[in-house]
Amino acid sequence: MKILVTGGAGYIGSICTEEILNLGDSVVVFDNLTEGHRSAIDPRAKFVEGDLGDRDFIFKTLAEEKPDAVMHFAANALVGESMTNPSKYFRNNVAYGINLIDAMVDAGVKQFVFSSTCATYGVPERVPIDERNPQRPINPYGESKLMFEHVLKWYEKIHGLVHVNLRYFNAAGASERFGEDHRIETHLIPNVLKVALGQRERVDIFGDRYDTPDGTCIRDYIHVKDLAAAHLLAIGAKHSASYNLGTGEGFSVQQVVDAARKVTGHAIPAVVKEARAGDPARLISSSLKITAELGWKPKLQRIQPILESAWAWHSKNPNGYGD
Ligand code: UDP
Repeated sequence: MKILVTGGAGYIGSICTEEILNLGDSVVVFDNLTEGHRSAIDPRAKFVEGDLGDRDFIFKTLAEEKPDAVMHFAANALVGESMTNPSKYFRNNVAYGINLIDAMVDAGVKQFVFSSTCATYGVPERVPIDERNPQRPINPYGESKLMFEHVLKWYEKIHGLVHVNLRYFNAAGASERFGEDHRIETHLIPNVLKVALGQRERVDIFGDRYDTPDGTCIRDYIHVKDLAAAHLLAIGAKHSASYNLGTGEGFSVQQVVDAARKVTGHAIPAVVKEARAGDPARLISSSLKITAELGWKPKLQRIQPILESAWAWHSKNPNGYGD
């Protein structure tokens, strides 16, 4: 198989690319390198530098490459930023995504795996969150991903585009070679580890008055290689479907900080700050559907080994990819 991976120079895209290549399939990475890094592109992949905003270029690329399937990671994915700059989210995540699927229709490519998110559910009615929870996003990031899911539904009906929406919970951890390096880091785990590396003085805890046992937000952290494994199962789907991807275990911000203290041996000072806009208190996945239908199961379910994996990469690459 030949798979075109948009965002293949980014965190999750780079590790999925690596796993696809390990199976002996081929990959074309399509990335504009605004969020991604050139050295995060597996050297076994072909790299096409381009922007999904350039409609003619993505049409030309799909027509030339004729991949069997497309995995679409390229997106903006920060809840907080989306609350101040919604335009960026609707433009990049919806409008530019439409350029990509139009190009697929034009080139006759019918298999699509979409990086969606648990943020499409907003404040869930039931936790663990299964796929039948109503999707009512509370930030433009989640809304943009939900809008694209809706667009995909119509492209299937009208153009026969088979798509799998994978609704990620909180991706974490690393492979031996590739890890998480955002130019502006807002995520909890890398920020906690930056304190242990001596690059930040302390970690901010955004809110300690949530309705949770210790008052801090609970998230479901899923190892990035487990996420990649789900993509490999999704790529051959005969029918369109949506699946939640988490471990089913939730850990609070405080528990993550405590576990990181154990893993790194560093005191990691923490200070409580205002709650961040757009953050629900508890997001925990039920992943029973993907287990039942595709046989997917996470290998890592506890926060400690996930943090160990992240720490191994960050301590080996204290400056990330260095660009
Ligand atoms: N968080 C925090 N301090 C930070 C970064 C994040 O307390 O420096 C909290 C954030 O409010 C959320 C959780 O940690 O409750 C996970 O946030 P992250 O940005 O990693 O992922 P998100 O859930 O927004 O996708």
